[in-house]
Amino acid sequence: MIPPRFEYLKPNDIASAVEAMGESEDPKVIAGGQSLMPLLRLRFAEPDVVIDLGGIQDVRGVRDEGDHLWIGAMTTHYDVVRDPLIAEHCSLLATATQTVADPAVRHRGTLGGAFAHADPASDLPAVALALEAEMVVQGAGGERVIPASEFFVDYLETTLEQDEVLTGIRIPKKWGGWNFHYEKFTRTAQAWAIVGVAAAVRRSNGSVAEARIGLTNMDSVPVRAASVESAVRGVPAQEEALAEAARTADEGTNPPSDLHGKEDYRRHLSRVLTGRALARAAGL
Ligand code: FAD
Repeated sequence: MIPPRFEYLKPNDIASAVEAMGESEDPKVIAGGQSLMPLLRLRFAEPDVVIDLGGIQDVRGVRDEGDHLWIGAMTTHYDVVRDPLIAEHCSLLATATQTVADPAVRHRGTLGGAFAHADPASDLPAVALALEAEMVVQGAGGERVIPASEFFVDYLETTLEQDEVLTGIRIPKKWGGWNFHYEKFTRTAQAWAIVGVAAAVRRSNGSVAEARIGLTNMDSVPVRAASVESAVRGVPAQEEALAEAARTADEGTNPPSDLHGKEDYRRHLSRVLTGRALARAAGL
């Protein structure tokens, strides 16, 4: 369980990090190290250079940028949970982050690390889909902005190029009048989701006017439950009606079968949990 030998760099700015990545054959960025360190110890990753983003101050924290919030990639889960701007404009992110692992992991793990790692069991990518977030990425060719819906490509795989660093996440501030809920089903407390559902609901005159739903661990990437989003429009905000609208939550998904649950169990969970998440987000 000893990591391979690698060169360690700790630049002070993103430009130097990007330059170092361009000069290496197989570089890896390290943020909180909560997922990368186990991968190195197991030798599933054997980079020649590890570039620590911990010394770069301007990719940390939360800023109000007019029509969206910008959250630095190196913002820890601990800080996300406590941030007043996140609480005001997109509390779903804080609610879901509160369920991530335990306090020790939340003190080290970062929002950017969770997205770049792209584990389909991670709670936060489904939230990024539901909140229509965008990833801000810096590479040798400059900056690009990628919608969350296009960022996650496959299991532990994103659209990030080898010399690109995720610098921040943008979340639109259009959620006034919406309510949120993250429903997570785990075998034990402080564990990974067997299935998770991130729901955003806007109510009008006792019915659901609009909903956004992201699913955790229902495919090799996080997915939107698009058929439920259409089915629930105009449905009365009542438990039974919302449970009925959630019956197609697993449509178009390809859930894994593993130690924690078989595919059909996950399909069942996604339908039940989506109904619950909609009800809680609708204020029931
Ligand atoms: P690192 O481990 O530092 O990096 C992870 C990967 O992302 C690496 O490949 C790295 O190169 C890349 N990377 C990191 N930052 C960037 C960047 N800015 N640009 C480009 N690439 C980057 N998560 C959950 O969602 N729910 C859970 O219940 C949960 N439980 C956990 C339990 C344990 C015991 C542990 C150890 C982790 C758990 N996690 C869980 C994951 C954890 O919360 C972190 O979010 C996750 O490990 C990644 O964050 P990090 O900052 O540690 O990234």
